[in-house]
Amino acid sequence: MLDIRQIPVLNDNYIYLLREPVSGAVAVVDPAVAAPVLTEAEQLGWRITHILNTHHHGDHVGGNMEIKAATNCTIVGPGSDAARIPGIDVHVADGDSFVFGAETAKVFFVPGHTRGHIAYWFKDSDALFCGDTMFSIGCGRLFEGTPQQMWTSLSRLRDLPDQTRIYCAHEYTASNVRFAVSVDPDNKALRAYEADVTEKRARNIPTVPSTLKLERAANPFLRADQPDLQAAIGMAGQPAVDVFAEVRRRKDVF
Ligand code: ZN
Ligand code: FE
Repeated sequence: MLDIRQIPVLNDNYIYLLREPVSGAVAVVDPAVAAPVLTEAEQLGWRITHILNTHHHGDHVGGNMEIKAATNCTIVGPGSDAARIPGIDVHVADGDSFVFGAETAKVFFVPGHTRGHIAYWFKDSDALFCGDTMFSIGCGRLFEGTPQQMWTSLSRLRDLPDQTRIYCAHEYTASNVRFAVSVDPDNKALRAYEADVTEKRARNIPTVPSTLKLERAANPFLRADQPDLQAAIGMAGQPAVDVFAEVRRRKDVF
């Protein structure tokens, strides 16, 4: 099992440090910045061997070069977007298996937020690092992709096992929940989670990771093909991609 540490940085970003105990390999997922990562690794006595990037945005790759200079680590990222990943060494693509000591991450190509976005699924640790594709009760904005691409990407992640922990890159949950109850007010799972999130944030506790079981039940962006959500927004029987696009449009102006 991976030992996973969560480092909150900037306003609402999470950087993850992963250690695979058999090999001692240590990866940083989406280092927005370098200093807090290097400090945390030093305090833990962990030697950083890899950076795993999900996409090119500055709040996900901003620490790449400084961490690489300090540790000589190997940078892994989307081959299709390699020109925008600073210092990339290893190009990965959909379906690839990235061997990380005794663990393996399966790579998912999940375009939508950006055209080259990928996610890393560590099956044996039930951990999904999905960057800005899926958030708890939300999804990333469509900066470079289409609703069809994002719906397809989210649908593929939705098929992972219930117990998968969703390590997304931002603490956006409270505002996502405020939006979600506006489109899906009668969703009991969402209402129960709303109370949980309110309580956690009041005590400054992360809501991330959530689980795929919870997201499948309560995240409106994963529910575009569900009759109750479709009815709630007046789109009963419409194609899922159109429902998804409408929910995303409403969130953009919420
Ligand atoms: Zn982003
Ligand atoms: Fe981001």
